[in-house]
Amino acid sequence: MIYLDHNATTKVPAAVMEAIMPLMGESLNPSSVHKQGRQAKALLENSRQEIANMLAAGDDYKLSFTSSGTEANNLVLNNFLDGDIFISAIEHSSVYNYSKLYSNIHIVGVDQDGVVDLDDLDKKLAQSTNSKKLVSVMLANNETGVVQPIGKISQLARQHNAYTHSDAVQAVGKMELNINDLGVDFLSISGHKFGGLIGAGAVIYPSDFSLKPDLIGGGQEQGMRSGTENLLAIRSMALAAQLVQKDLLKRTSHLRNLRDQFEERLISACPQIIIAGQKADRLPNTSLIVNPSKSSETQLISLDMAGIAVSAGSACSSGRISKSHILSAMGFSDKDARSGIRVSFGVDNSAADIEHFLTTYSKLSG
Ligand code: PLP
Repeated sequence: MIYLDHNATTKVPAAVMEAIMPLMGESLNPSSVHKQGRQAKALLENSRQEIANMLAAGDDYKLSFTSSGTEANNLVLNNFLDGDIFISAIEHSSVYNYSKLYSNIHIVGVDQDGVVDLDDLDKKLAQSTNSKKLVSVMLANNETGVVQPIGKISQLARQHNAYTHSDAVQAVGKMELNINDLGVDFLSISGHKFGGLIGAGAVIYPSDFSLKPDLIGGGQEQGMRSGTENLLAIRSMALAAQLVQKDLLKRTSHLRNLRDQFEERLISACPQIIIAGQKADRLPNTSLIVNPSKSSETQLISLDMAGIAVSAGSACSSGRISKSHILSAMGFSDKDARSGIRVSFGVDNSAADIEHFLTTYSKLSG
């Protein structure tokens, strides 16, 4: 099996597995006051510090663990439901679907490369008379990999007295990440996207902001997220964070080499293909291929039968493939928005994997 779906989830690296395996045999509740509890608490707090360090989040910020990136995004947006919320048209469903539920969610357009339209954001912020405002724009898009100008977005938001949140779930381990450079107030991450176990995410928020929790109970996570912490997943996220940070340059240059080689050869073999957002600044590992002559589903199934795992960017949790709202927002036709497949490389992929993909894909696209 050739796995080219690293934006969906990643395997846990051997070094992380080895480090967390012994913890499975322990009873570790960080809220318990006895010795094991205190050990668990120390592991939890070390993990918090290590992840904060990776993001360069100092004392101006707090970090609370959540179960996922989805929960982290929800927690931030839920704190602004009595205000105006400005999101981009290409957000992940954990942000985007708020626009289907609430009338105070304003959608900001993107250009044909999938980059947020700053003039549209400026105009929409200026029209708001609400004193409470949040701008929520992802750092890197999960389907196209397009990286948003978050520094400029947070500056603009500040001029309008708005807070800024960025969903950085796809960015960790694929680009340099420093919360101060981004200038955002809130940031969301998710461990399983960069080598942690599924089941842990984190929200980073200003120390002086009184965040209202979604989960009420024992008051874990400084009261921000009740429920016993998923220490194994949290520990694996912190260890994975250190691994990706240590090798970031090596990782990103390997990924970029593979991706560039892949796109160049794919386009010369199948000239009808469009790589969505190719001209924009993108994550080094992601290619969203639009093949107007084939539906996402047909491509996905044929590749799966040949042992190659990719995804249709637009797949939802039921596995059904729908129209990509991201491609639609970028101006692609309905037909094209149903023809995208996402190839997302990981550090273990090699040139041989590209070779295998191209041989299979050129047969399929005729
Ligand atoms: N945000 C982005 C950009 C994502 O790609 C994903 C997952 O695909 C999420 C949020 C949700 O993360 P999780 O799977 O941890 O809920």
